[in-house]
This record gives sequence, C-alpha cells and structure tokens, in this order.
Amino acid sequence: MLIADGDPSMKIGVLALQGDFEEHCGCLTRLEVDAREVRLPSQLDNLDGLILPGGESTSIGKLATDYDLVEPIQKFAKSAPVWGTCGGLVFLATDVGGDQPTLGLIDMVVERNAFGRQVDSFEEDLEITGLPGGLFRGIFIRAPKVVKVGQSVSIICELKGGSIVAVRSGRFLATSFHPELTTDTRVHEYFLAMVEKALRS
Ligand code: GLN
Repeated sequence: MLIADGDPSMKIGVLALQGDFEEHCGCLTRLEVDAREVRLPSQLDNLDGLILPGGESTSIGKLATDYDLVEPIQKFAKSAPVWGTCGGLVFLATDVGGDQPTLGLIDMVVERNAFGRQVDSFEEDLEITGLPGGLFRGIFIRAPKVVKVGQSVSIICELKGGSIVAVRSGRFLATSFHPELTTDTRVHEYFLAMVEKALRS
C-alpha cells in the first residue's frame, strides 16, 4: 500500500453528474476510505480530495455548469488534490480543441477520442512513473490523449507508441485510462498518497 493503511478519516468526493462514479466509489470503499458523491457545491465542503470520473466530458461540463459547480471546484482545487480519469482528464484540461466547458486546471492540450470509437477500445500494460509494483493494466475506452503539456506538467505515462496517457501537475493527476474498472487499486492509492501529503502540508 502507498497509503498508511486506508485512512478512514479521509473524505474523498467523486463528481457524480454522469459517468462511472459508482465504480470509483467502490474502489475507495474497498480501500476503507469515506467516498462521497458530489452533485452540489455544498457537498465539496470538508472533502480532502476530488475524483472526476470517466464519462462524456461534454455532458459532465454542461451539467457542472448547470449546477453551478465549475467555480466551486476551481476554488476547492486551490488547496486540495483532484484526479480526472478519461472524460475527467478532458474536463481538467486548459485546451480540448473545441468549445466545451472545462476546469482549466492542468495546462495541457487534449485530443478527445484520440484512439477511435467505442469499438476501438483496448487494453495495454503501462509503466507509470512513481507507481510501485510493476506494470498497470490500462483500460482505454474512447480515450483522450494529451498532445502537449505546459512547463508545470510532468508526463508520468506514455503508450509504447509515444501517446501521453497520464500526467501530474502539482496537486492534480489525470489518466486517459480507467483504473476504476480494474481490481488493481494502485492508482487510487497513488492519489490517496497525494491527498495525505496535501493534508500534512
Ligand atoms: N470520449 C469521452 C470524452 O471525450 C471520454 C470517454 C470516457 O470517459 N470513457 O468525453
């Protein structure tokens, strides 16, 4: 385990507007962490970290705008870690090459659906910088890739062909793939270690 031993006092929010938020909550619960679904700005209060799940980033952005969540999440992110998976990675980006609401928290250019359609979904064993325990099985479903990063952003995983599929930028983590769809909780533990560090600082 990257975290001490599943800190039950840690409260992690999962944006629950659309997409596979239940799977993220399931992973957190297995790690004995208090997982809370977030649909309203007030539900961000007292959380230690936030996960933006995979889904349809245009829908997530539209619903977050309709529920007045964009600014509260940006404010929350000034002091707490945020992790986006797949559609959540898109929602974190500054530039997605189109007109859809994003949080603009990670300085990166993202290409949506970069590997094709649903039928082109694939899995690949990934080497992720800072993740102990060897390769991680990445599940890619209409996944985005990161095509350019700013100076503040570290690339922590690339596919064999060179496509960037995971980045870290200070308190923020983004993965093109879906760790919540596997039984391997190491990327969740990696994020929880970021949260623990932020709580200590
Ligand atoms: N293709 C979706 C998007 O760009 C992301 C898909 C996913 O999260 N599995 O919003």
